Amino acid sequence: MENTPCGEIRVDILPVGPLQSNCYLIYCTENRKALVVDPGDEGDKILRAIQQLRLVPVMIINTHGHGDHIGANGFIKERFQIPIAIHAGDAPLLTDPAANLSAWMGLPIVSPPADQILCDGAAIPFEGNMVEVFHTPGHSPGGITLRIGHHLLTGDALFKGSIGRTDLPGSSQAQLLEGIRRHILSLPDDVIIYPGHGPSTTVGEERRYNPFLQGMA
Ligand SMILES: [Zn+2]
Repeated sequence: MENTPCGEIRVDILPVGPLQSNCYLIYCTENRKALVVDPGDEGDKILRAIQQLRLVPVMIINTHGHGDHIGANGFIKERFQIPIAIHAGDAPLLTDPAANLSAWMGLPIVSPPADQILCDGAAIPFEGNMVEVFHTPGHSPGGITLRIGHHLLTGDALFKGSIGRTDLPGSSQAQLLEGIRRHILSLPDDVIIYPGHGPSTTVGEERRYNPFLQGMA
């Protein structure tokens, strides 16, 4: 029965912190098990949402290691005793305020270290579903995009109508566009995109209207 899909998979969005980073709660409507993606700040607010939805968090996943996406990792990890997963390329950012750029903003942020390293092509079993991991570097070296069914979490690789900043240490616009082409534009138009900041969109909408992606696919 382990592999029987549970109820529906739902995605709740909580913008947190001064940069309004999107923390996502991905959960099964049946047994309430949840993944907490990018608990960037405002641990109390995230905790309240978890409690209101009666969720049971099982893992924290960071789409990348920048300070505005990891600020409440420690708070949520401690509260629920759950592991933190991130790509190897960004794991060092968790514990280094200079590398995760929070030192630049004058508010040094550290997270507990990674418990689990995610690689391109990894599949994390979650309540009868698979969370697929795609390496989409370019905004940061270890940026990942997560797919669960028709939901796609792109972190700061791709936004509605834009792409992630590539003027940061370890950034590369060529790399970013290649990852988007290979792992995101290859998906069906109706896949819903949940970016690291700002409103949701779809693969089809970005394929057609995102000015950075014109002529790519
Ligand atoms: Zn970022």
